[in-house]
Amino acid sequence: MMSTALNSSAVWNKCLEVIRDNINTQSYKTWFEPIKPVRLENNILTIEVPSQFYYEWIEEHYVSLLSKTIRHFLGPDAKLAYSVVMEQTSADTGHAYRVNMPTAFGEHKTKNPPVNLPLTSNKPPVNPFVIPGLKKITIDSQLNPVCTFDNFIEGECNRLARSAGLNIATRPGQTSYNPLLLYGSFGLGKTHLAQAIGNEVKKLHPDKVVVYVSSEKFTNQFVDSIKNNSVSDFINFYQLIDVLIVDDIQFLAGKERTQDIFFHVFNHLHQNNRQIILTSDSAPGELKGMEERLLSRFKWGLSADLGVPDMETRQAILRHKMYLEGIEIPEDVIEYIAYNIKTNVRELEGAMISIIAQSSFNRKEIDLDLACQVIKNFVKNATRELSIETIQRLVCDYFQIGPEKLKEQIRKREYVQARQIAMYFAKEFTKSSLKTIGLHFGGRDHSTVIHALRTVQNLCFTDKEFKRYVEELRKKIQLSTG
Ligand code: ADP
Ligand code: MG
Repeated sequence: MMSTALNSSAVWNKCLEVIRDNINTQSYKTWFEPIKPVRLENNILTIEVPSQFYYEWIEEHYVSLLSKTIRHFLGPDAKLAYSVVMEQTSADTGHAYRVNMPTAFGEHKTKNPPVNLPLTSNKPPVNPFVIPGLKKITIDSQLNPVCTFDNFIEGECNRLARSAGLNIATRPGQTSYNPLLLYGSFGLGKTHLAQAIGNEVKKLHPDKVVVYVSSEKFTNQFVDSIKNNSVSDFINFYQLIDVLIVDDIQFLAGKERTQDIFFHVFNHLHQNNRQIILTSDSAPGELKGMEERLLSRFKWGLSADLGVPDMETRQAILRHKMYLEGIEIPEDVIEYIAYNIKTNVRELEGAMISIIAQSSFNRKEIDLDLACQVIKNFVKNATRELSIETIQRLVCDYFQIGPEKLKEQIRKREYVQARQIAMYFAKEFTKSSLKTIGLHFGGRDHSTVIHALRTVQNLCFTDKEFKRYVEELRKKIQLSTG
């Protein structure tokens, strides 16, 4: 038999040559270089992977490549077995043991119970929040200490979300609210509430590892870890966490690789009864550009929305903020602000700060007169965030076509032009990526969006009438924001 003639490293090295030719260099470095061949017995090749995460990742993404390659060298009966280095995460770190894992091909069942072995390296986990060179052993939760439950005013608009949050804080990972998904539009308190839960957990359970991260930061950390060849550090870090708060998950839209890694992190934490808290600008059913398997997991626990606070709650929030600032302000002024600013809490705060600023610059008392002046300007200048949907609506109104025409595949000239112009303005007026823009136009890809942007630019140059459309529309869009 070949297996007696060849040792495991020789076979594995041959396999690696084939694998290297079949996947990109980065993936090869990330997922295959850390693997060690352990033994080759009875035509079963055993490889050691650094963590359970690797094992799952390889099984999911590379099992068919691996099985083909191994069978190529060892014959059709060849089997693969994994030995996974398991690290203990809780208090008693410093030890690791190896567990044999089944594989999707070869059905090699584990016979040996796990054996305890000392950990080869005693390195503390690498923390991606810490700039290299600055050693930090305890994990900083990245929470803002100001965002607490005490500072979060209760109202009809947030009652469910708030009470679920309090429940979670007492028993993180032990309630059925896992994950907790807080959703709602801009400025309604999602970040505040998510952080309040984190701060409360730290207060009640000082030993728990709590981490707050925005989706953007998570994505950047992941991308950096690929660049620096430290994906396994990244993964190990996120697997240590007891309460993981990921803010603004809509940002992951269209980022397939980050969603993929997040899916695995999510599964690990969830399986180990760790708490996951997510926030998003829309209900899970309306999140665009997300993998189905992630969306379905988001719905496992509780989705709670944060609504616009009613008049009474807006007043209570203002009173509380004034109290925190140590400023006294007449009741009629509070009422006046609360009555006029209805959109969200962030704008409410903005209006209040403007009034305080005006009063101190001009050494005027805060009274109804001053409030009236400031609010008049404030309402006029408050720029609403433009969304791709708003731009689409304005473009469709202008060309008098149905909004669905922007998403369909019909190649009629007027629809194609409206579509391209809407994409062009989506790029100009929003911060969305080309990918996200494409997704809002019936799932077109980013190269279609690039093509649209170029076409609009070229046509503006060569076609006077077209240029006039674009300029008129730009004015309409600008007007709608201010
Ligand atoms: P979002 O993440 O939904 O955009 P934030 O959590 O950033 O909104 O909230 C915007 C501002 O409003 C923050 O300063 C926050 O402290 C404040 N805020 C929101 N809801 C409340 C509330 N119920 N009580 C007190 N302050 C609130
Ligand atoms: Mg937020």
